[in-house]
Amino acid sequence: MADHVFQKCINAQCAATFSVDETRTACPSCGNLLDVCYDWEKLPIPQNLSYFEKYWSERNIPQRFSGVWRFQEMLPFTDLEKCVTIGEGQTLLQNAPCVAKYVGMKPDKLFLQYEGMNPSGSFKDNGMVAAITHAKLMGATAAACASTGNTSASLALYCGYTRLMKAIIFIGSGKIAYGKLSQALDYGAKTIQIFGDFDDAMNRVREVSQKLGLYLVNSVNPFRLEGQKTIMYRILEALNWEVPDWIVVPGGNLGNSSAFGKAFFELKMLGLIKRIPRLAVINAHGANTLFQLYEKEGVRWNEGRPDRAKIQAFFEQMNRENRRASTLASAIEINRPVNLEKCLRALSWCDGVVREVDDQEIVDAKSQIGANGLGCEPASAASVAGAKKLREEGIISPAERVVCILTGHQLKDPVTTVAYHSADATKFQETLGCRGVYRADFANSPLPVENDLEKIIAAIQE
Ligand SMILES: *Cc1c(COP(=O)(O)O)cnc(C)c1O
Ligand SMILES: [Zn+2]
Repeated sequence: MADHVFQKCINAQCAATFSVDETRTACPSCGNLLDVCYDWEKLPIPQNLSYFEKYWSERNIPQRFSGVWRFQEMLPFTDLEKCVTIGEGQTLLQNAPCVAKYVGMKPDKLFLQYEGMNPSGSFKDNGMVAAITHAKLMGATAAACASTGNTSASLALYCGYTRLMKAIIFIGSGKIAYGKLSQALDYGAKTIQIFGDFDDAMNRVREVSQKLGLYLVNSVNPFRLEGQKTIMYRILEALNWEVPDWIVVPGGNLGNSSAFGKAFFELKMLGLIKRIPRLAVINAHGANTLFQLYEKEGVRWNEGRPDRAKIQAFFEQMNRENRRASTLASAIEINRPVNLEKCLRALSWCDGVVREVDDQEIVDAKSQIGANGLGCEPASAASVAGAKKLREEGIISPAERVVCILTGHQLKDPVTTVAYHSADATKFQETLGCRGVYRADFANSPLPVENDLEKIIAAIQE
């Protein structure tokens, strides 16, 4: 297998290649990101996507039960029996008519992909299982990440469950949703809380991983993105192998959007799909680097030669102004997305668009998703808020088929949810330090009732 897979620098001017047996999170010659690449001609390629249905009857084999490894032919960086699994990827694509109405779509045209149903409650498990598999192949004894919460929850869970290696987690001192922090602590990860934000924690973890030889599992790890491709395969599977018109996803470090683009590019190249859906990446207004660069500055992938001087100048100005990311959607509170260039590539492959939504739009959309059942955390709701915006702009039309990715579970961040439904905007400002929410139009507030039978009955019948 190893002769058919290699790593390659995404920078067209460099394009250096490396063995799959090397642990790298950046190109040593130019510093850019790496891809996992395959010599597809030398590999057994499925004739069509319904090929994967044969595995539905093999769910007694752990790797075939996995929503990641049952598509192993599309990420064949090692043999199936070497793949770690804890049963990730048992997710659901739900047709959501109430949310469709809110977005302005026809009732049967809007779908929600519930990645919160993963073992650690976010899509991160799809990628983590691939990274942990590679880490194990490399003989790693400890893995590390910087995290706004869900990456660390996922790493902690995989290490706690499999006992394959130690988990070391860096979090910033800013916002971290308690659900996520509680997971890292409960699953026994060594948790280092440094004074600084996510971007600071990210810089440190790179440094420390190099020094101590820790296996880094942030989304700069190209194997993680291989696992995250499978979210798209499961959506196609749920749509009976039909390609939707739009995939809408929140953008933080831009690993997911990058992985989705690669998934579709490969499927198209292999003749397994006829067309590629359009991709919409949604930033929070308070962490809108991609929106600024792509939509305002016009930065494009440009065949592997994006305008790096312009990108550099943007970050230098951000430094000079000491601009820090700020949004209640803590999972996407990131100003320096590590996968920026890969995401530009995905946007070019998928004829993509980028939008920003503010915290008010995020919490309102979140309440609509919750009211439709299952729910999500704030960052996830950026996808629905973004779809609504694109619908209003006429970029998405009401009869197109749209899939919004719900990246994380409803219970990750109950504080925000309760603050919203208590219809108490001051709670957002005081408790959450967030000034972007003024209204709670869809609040479902608890009714205070005296402990009196008749008054209780009256309140129920109201
Ligand atoms: C990590 C995360 C994101 C951001 O994904 P990227 O791949 O970093 O863009 C969005 N939502 C949730 C819930 C997350 O955990
Ligand atoms: Zn390079």
